[in-house]
Amino acid sequence: MNVYYSKKYNINLGILNALHPFDGIKFRKIYKEIKSQPNINLIDPTAPISMDIIDDFLNEQMQRSVRRKDLILNALELPNIPLLGFFIIDNRILQPMRWGIAGTMSASIDALKEQQVCWNISGGYHHATPASMQGFCIYNDIGICYKRLIKDKILSLTDKILIIDTDAHHGNGNAATFMDNDHVTILDVYNAQIYPNDKITRNRINIPVPLSLGTQGDTYLEKYRIALSTLDSDYRLVFVVAGSDVLATDQLGGLNLTIDDVVQREEMTVTRLKELGLASVMLGGGGYSKESAQCVAKSILACAL
Ligand SMILES: [Zn+2]
Repeated sequence: MNVYYSKKYNINLGILNALHPFDGIKFRKIYKEIKSQPNINLIDPTAPISMDIIDDFLNEQMQRSVRRKDLILNALELPNIPLLGFFIIDNRILQPMRWGIAGTMSASIDALKEQQVCWNISGGYHHATPASMQGFCIYNDIGICYKRLIKDKILSLTDKILIIDTDAHHGNGNAATFMDNDHVTILDVYNAQIYPNDKITRNRINIPVPLSLGTQGDTYLEKYRIALSTLDSDYRLVFVVAGSDVLATDQLGGLNLTIDDVVQREEMTVTRLKELGLASVMLGGGGYSKESAQCVAKSILACAL
């Protein structure tokens, strides 16, 4: 299995690390666990996605907003520190995310070329839209890649796309981005009692699997298995936001899964996508506990067998 990783994915905020639940160097930890394993073909994106490609996806106001320190820090839920210049934020946080989008792009192109499942360990910024950024998400990588693939004629406007979102949070950004696009189907398994609590975007989900606070692994996996069984092979490309914030140890997800449950979930996803013969891209999504890196590494190793 192709796995996309760059050492540039890692976010190091120095003294600000303690102010945020996100483990910015979890990508490096995942890489260390999987780097010399058989069946894993590690691919290093060659360059971050350019601001031109991102700007092409954003509306005019957002093109300005993504260059404003105060608005970026607000979306990242970090305090506004006057001495910290935009350059530092751009270099330490946004540039790693642009490398992450390059991973989503490379994985998408290779998945389509080789009709296989690829895994980018970053990306899955499912709360951002062309008009907004929130919930630690500045750029919507799926939307950016989709638009670019159409522009490059790798995808057509009538190709059917599937987004499977198993992150603990509802993917309101993806739902808003594709609100009026009937060619995009969304399956979303989410904790309905936490952020973002957006009824309008929830109504956009084609296959909703809402869960309550504290849902255990067996209930989660059974409901997800039923949702997966409704899918057909009629999709040109699949994006999976495989957030590990469903772990019981996660401070934000409010669900109660073990590492083994998540490994089983990813195996169910990859097995189903392979059964259907769908070109697919697994994406990192959220994951804020200390167990997250170990959980993702175990999942990749299990799925690469
Ligand atoms: Zn999440």
